[in-house]
Amino acid sequence: MMAANASNPASQTAAPGPIILLGAPGAGKGTQAKAIAALYGIPQISTGDILRDNVARSTELGKKADPIMKSGGLVPDDLMLAMVEDRLNQPDCQRGYILDGFPRTVGQAEWLDSFLGKALFGGRQMAPVVVSIEVSYNQLLQRLTGRRSCPADGKIYNIYFQPPRKEGVCDSCGTTLVQRKDDKEDVIAERLKSYERQTLPLVEYYGQKGTLHKLNGELAVEQVTATTLEVIAKAATK
Ligand code: AMP
Repeated sequence: MMAANASNPASQTAAPGPIILLGAPGAGKGTQAKAIAALYGIPQISTGDILRDNVARSTELGKKADPIMKSGGLVPDDLMLAMVEDRLNQPDCQRGYILDGFPRTVGQAEWLDSFLGKALFGGRQMAPVVVSIEVSYNQLLQRLTGRRSCPADGKIYNIYFQPPRKEGVCDSCGTTLVQRKDDKEDVIAERLKSYERQTLPLVEYYGQKGTLHKLNGELAVEQVTATTLEVIAKAATK
């Protein structure tokens, strides 16, 4: 089968199924998710983004999640699973989706396995393709403390590695860039601890199932993207 690429419209009708991006906060899951989403025309489902949207709209879920997110902890499963189930049942999920930030605990992964046991993609059942993006602790710290984003078009910058042409404003639309509240140093330390304690065990979980692909997330973004897309295209031929 031909590998998927941006000039290949077949990738826009293919059913790559569920794709899980694992990795610490700052590993580049969001960036890679956007590239996959654009190529396949499937949604990027970022549980962090959905929660932040609920916080901004002051929904019941948002009010409960806000203090937990501010402290760098994980939102409990009873809130997460209903939210995710609702999202995965939307019509745009029929060919597949990219999970960015979910699952984050073994409990969530087990729930997802049972959800996927009943789901069809392009008419067939599919095991998830799991990509673990690996980045060293020091690199993560710099990525997170330096991260800024455009609230208008979602473009992500880093004041150390990838600064905007003009300080503090988006290259594409001129909007003032913002820093996520939880990208402050004290909260970052907590988020990385939550990751090590609760999410890192997922590497083992999916490793045992034989669906895990580990990737060096410190290479250039384009290189990581190329490898990620290769892994997904290969999995689709199995
Ligand atoms: P993120 O944007 O993925 O870094 O998520 C931001 C915050 O949202 C996390 O620090 C958690 O508080 C919360 N969150 C996002 N996804 C999950 C999840 N799958 N389970 C529990 N909490 C989550």
